[in-house]
Amino acid sequence: MVQTRGFGVFAAVGVGLLLVTGCGHTPKKQARTAGQQVAAGRKAPRAAPPPPRQIDCDKVQCVALTFDDGPGPYTDRLLGTLRSGGARATFFMLGENVPSHGAVVRRMALEGHELANHSWSHPQLTSLSTARVQSEVQRTQQAISQASGGVRPTLMRPPYGATDKRVGQAVGMPLILWSVDTLDWRYRSASRDAKVGVSQPRRGGIVLFHDIHKPSVDSIPKVLDGLKRRGFTFVTVSELFRGKPLRAGQTYTEAVVPKPPAPPERPGSPAPGSPAPGSPTGPAPDSPAPGSPSVPAAEPPAPGAPGPGSPAPGSPAPGSPAPGSPAPGSPVPSAGQ
Ligand SMILES: [Zn+2]
Repeated sequence: MVQTRGFGVFAAVGVGLLLVTGCGHTPKKQARTAGQQVAAGRKAPRAAPPPPRQIDCDKVQCVALTFDDGPGPYTDRLLGTLRSGGARATFFMLGENVPSHGAVVRRMALEGHELANHSWSHPQLTSLSTARVQSEVQRTQQAISQASGGVRPTLMRPPYGATDKRVGQAVGMPLILWSVDTLDWRYRSASRDAKVGVSQPRRGGIVLFHDIHKPSVDSIPKVLDGLKRRGFTFVTVSELFRGKPLRAGQTYTEAVVPKPPAPPERPGSPAPGSPAPGSPTGPAPDSPAPGSPSVPAAEPPAPGAPGPGSPAPGSPAPGSPAPGSPAPGSPVPSAGQ
């Protein structure tokens, strides 16, 4: 759940004065408050994000679409697509991209999407000191809060899915991985992204896209249509886990019904019943860490920030099929397609 400032006040004012002013976005009292803030030299909030919806994903067939590494030049268009489709999503943003896309981040918040943390500069956190991990996370928290008008993320996705117990403790938030890696960053094909995005998700799944790639954003109208036909409801990650408390430092790949989060596992052991479908590759060689319930697929490096130790696409994960081959049931085509 995102934490917002003053939502209750603005919501009540907005409803109460809607008829008086004829405009739900600028009720008189709120405008006066905003004016006072401007006079005080602060940026005026114009509205507050809606609260998470009360959707019971134990009864409804939910899926969480997630978009990493933005915001970027295509994110605003993606927000339009999501709004048209009545879908909410989760954005795992890089702090370094936030200040230059402040309006997009604010729109994201106001339209009910979940704002989440993906580090400042996309390093492999397991290779950093604890102090630097904390800096990567906290700088991003501050940037998102500032851009959004006070929304502080409560979820974090470590770049490449690379984490361990030390990193988890340093991050201090639940670590959200994924159950479906569309590999959109590798293939850059809207038609392929749409096929994978429609066919792979299963109930409770978390689907990984990257909104910094144009084909990925281009694919989303078809993804929404196809998943709707399959009966899915689009929820944020926090909505997906509603009623299933998430623990700081623990990793999650999907909402499993109705098992509790897995206890710490032996190194390399998979989560019970959660083999992370669609994950043919693994994170860096020195990952995954003890406590990871499953092995995520590798993410691409951020543009211009590959960094030492970045996992090579196609590197095998422990227990995965032959190098480069897709996981059982995965529609991922062979390289070059
Ligand atoms: Zn990433």
